[in-house]
Amino acid sequence: PAPENPAARKIYDLERSRVFHSWSAQAAVDPLVITDARGSRVVDGDGRSYLDFSSQLVFTNIGHQHPRVVAAIAEQAQRLCTIAPSHANEARARAAELITELAPDGFEKVFFTNAGADAVEHAIRMARLHTGRYKTLSAFRGYHGGTAEAVNLTGDPRRWPNDYGTAGSVHFFAPFLYRSQFHAETEAQECERALAHLESLIAFEGPDAFAAIILESIPGTAGIMVPPPGYLDGVRALCDRYGIVMILDEVMAGFGRTGRWLALDNFGVQPDLITFAKGVTSGYIPLGGVIISDAIAESFATTPYPGGLTYSGHPLACATAVATIETMQDEGIVENAAAIGADVLGPGLADLARRHPVIGEVRGLGVFWALELVADPTTREPLAPYGASSPEMAAIAARAKADGLLLFQNMNRFHLCPPCTVDAADTKEALQILDDALSVV
Ligand code: PLP
Repeated sequence: PAPENPAARKIYDLERSRVFHSWSAQAAVDPLVITDARGSRVVDGDGRSYLDFSSQLVFTNIGHQHPRVVAAIAEQAQRLCTIAPSHANEARARAAELITELAPDGFEKVFFTNAGADAVEHAIRMARLHTGRYKTLSAFRGYHGGTAEAVNLTGDPRRWPNDYGTAGSVHFFAPFLYRSQFHAETEAQECERALAHLESLIAFEGPDAFAAIILESIPGTAGIMVPPPGYLDGVRALCDRYGIVMILDEVMAGFGRTGRWLALDNFGVQPDLITFAKGVTSGYIPLGGVIISDAIAESFATTPYPGGLTYSGHPLACATAVATIETMQDEGIVENAAAIGADVLGPGLADLARRHPVIGEVRGLGVFWALELVADPTTREPLAPYGASSPEMAAIAARAKADGLLLFQNMNRFHLCPPCTVDAADTKEALQILDDALSVV
């Protein structure tokens, strides 16, 4: 709705008349004007404060306007705003050092991009050149970005209008016990059958055909399905058996979101390439990239890598990454995310599920949680159809927003993804607002 405050109303009207918005019918665009943001809260054009449990698009991992990160950006801007990728600079070199230190052993190089989708594009390109193969495997319940290749790797309905037949992009079902494609009744069955399904696809599509499998370590937008024990290890084994590059997409799940530095740390799995973006700078300045294993880096030791970007490793973005990572380390922010998830948010959501039959399942860890809402707990009929919303979902979101809580909403799910810096008091307040909002249906 349009704000009442005349200055904010001007911004709202200008935004609606001049800015072409993502994923939207332009006539239906109805943005919230944000004029201020601190920590876990944002303020709208009429001065109303909201708890931001969306972290915008799940990227403000360090919270809004962290003073140390803001100061580091200002300092870097004074010193050196920009320099071409071919030159060396301190911020970029230090960011690469810090990022590779967070990765498993055997990753010593970073290729920097502007954001997540182009990180995915480059990871796929590296895999194709490394293997000399073309085809890719990715999950239906997954999101990898909005550019041509990344949106075709994406499994959700945003791919459909963009699908011009990208050759060789094959989709599979990753494990999801609550809505099992495999008639599984236990996590162990779901894991085993999902791996058998994946191996069958490889056999029927051509065992020598695949360059890469790309998977989110924990699928984010698609519903925060934490993979069962053994699944990612099983994918690793298939990649080894068939000579396929394993890419883990950490764009949403990485940099503290799950209560570990990388989401893959929850599973002890060793991929070949890791994509990242969002939390690496908390989105203060856009940055993404690919962390490259030594074996793949070796493919481009004497053969040139045929790819680049004008702003690869932009100093302002890299200085932001350095300040974000160092601050998260110094202030125990990843540990805070783990503790909030284990002690407050996880138990609080489980309690809501006991009292609201509309909650079919609660899933997640750290500050990365999904509520799967159902019209009927027995049949598990979703509260909104696949690829759409519903009046019930809209009513819950509207009530939460009216009471001061922003949620990430997708189909029949609400995701609770506050900053990793969120405290127990704000989390409890959000749970209370959610409790009231769920009572609407
Ligand atoms: N990969 C994952 C797992 C994501 O969640 C996203 C964005 O939400 C992307 C890739 C694309 O990132 P970007 O929007 O920065 O291009």
